Parts: sequence; structure tokens; C-alpha cells
Amino acid sequence: MSLTILGSGTLFPNHRRHAAAHYIDTGRAKILFDCGAGTLHGLSEHSIDWEGITHVAITHYHTDHVGELSALLFALKHGVLREEPLTLIGPPGFTVFIERLEAALGTHITDPGFELRIVELGPGETYLDSERAVQIRSFPTPHSEESVAYRFEGRGSSIGYTGDTGPSEELAAFLFSCRVLIAECTLTDPTDMKLHLSPASLARMAQRVQPELLVVTHVYPPADPDEAVARVAECGFDGRIVAGVDGLHIRLDEFLTVA
Ligand SMILES: [Zn+2]
Ligand SMILES: [Zn+2]
Repeated sequence: MSLTILGSGTLFPNHRRHAAAHYIDTGRAKILFDCGAGTLHGLSEHSIDWEGITHVAITHYHTDHVGELSALLFALKHGVLREEPLTLIGPPGFTVFIERLEAALGTHITDPGFELRIVELGPGETYLDSERAVQIRSFPTPHSEESVAYRFEGRGSSIGYTGDTGPSEELAAFLFSCRVLIAECTLTDPTDMKLHLSPASLARMAQRVQPELLVVTHVYPPADPDEAVARVAECGFDGRIVAGVDGLHIRLDEFLTVA
């Protein structure tokens, strides 16, 4: 099983750090977590089998996380001949969101030429695909009305993804002991903002979660991912930590390999 960071960036234009997108390949399942601006080119740039994506899971409706979902569906409709179904998973309001997207952009959204399965996952609910041995659990985050984090389980490993979130003890408990934690670090300290994480609040959360590896992503300028990693370590997280940059590839075998 492997994880590739396709979009470690933010809403700021940056050709090296596309907006949020993270790709997990278990062999039987190919899952994209979030689909922000730049995802399509990132799939090509990092040689991902985009035609074979089986699931897309969206954390919330901010454009830096969902802006290229329609472009991906458009590419799958007109760019390839596909028979495999595609499952789209999203937070509360997802069914209506998809209907509105279709009303605005056209029928490729719900009729891309193959079976589309829309799954609206309420907070605390679990999605299970036993055929592909995939389990995804969702948990609400203090960020937007509908925002959720995901915990993915497959092939004996678990990956936690915060999406966008403010500090939350409950979220830390939900993500406890996931093998890899992909976490946002939007803010710089000191801050009173409660809708995103900063190095100090991320260090607190990661110290509770105790992942085997922490991937720091969604870092806003003027800070950069390396700087954020240094701050998170200074703030007291003593585990293994790496800067989330586009193209970062992690293999989750017996050992974690980061390339
Ligand atoms: Zn957001
Ligand atoms: Zn965001």
C-alpha cells in the first residue's frame, strides 16, 4: 500500500504545491482524498493511474479541496473508456452538492458513462467496501459547517487525514494511533484562530495521536512546509515527521519508507 501527496498546498496559486489532494493505492483500491486545484495535472506529473481511480473522498466544500472534482469526472467521461464504477464520498449535503454541480456544469457530473455511486457520509459514520477491502470513517472537524476528517483502513494499515480543522481533542481521539497522519498546518503561532491548526496546536494533536509518521501539509505562505515541520518539533511533537510536498511517496509495508 502506498500514499502519494499530490496537493500539499493551499488556496494560493503555487505550481509546486497544488491544492489539497492525497492518493492512496492499496492495489485493489485507488482512492483520492480531496480534489483541489491542480489535482488533474498532479495525477499526470506523478504518474498516477488516474483512469483507475475507484473512490474520491471529499472533506468539505471549500474550493481548495473540491474545485477539480468536475474536471476529473469530465476527464473520465471523455478521456477514457471505463466500465468500473466510481464511488464519490462526501460530508453532509453531498447529494445536494452533486445535484447543484450537475445543474451548473452538465450531465457529465452524474452520468460520466459508467456507474457513479454517491455516498453521503454523516459524521461518525463508516463506509465499507468489502469487495475492495476499504473502510473509511468520518469525523466532524471544527472548520466549516460540514467539514470532516477521514480515517482510512486497508491492508492492515490506517491513515488519518485531518482535512481542514481547528484544534479538537475529540478528533485526536478519533485518529489515535493511525500509522500515518496527514495533518493541516495553516496558521503560524501565536494565534487565536480556532478553525485551523498552527504548529503548537498540531504538535498537541499529534502527540495525542502518536502516529508512526506525521505528514505536515496545507502550510500557508509565508511559512513553508520545512519551516512548519521545524516548529511542530519545537512545540513538543517528538515522533517521526516529514514535510508534505507534492510528489512525496510513502510505502506502508512492514516498515514505512518515505521517498
Ligand atoms: Zn477549508
Ligand atoms: Zn483548505
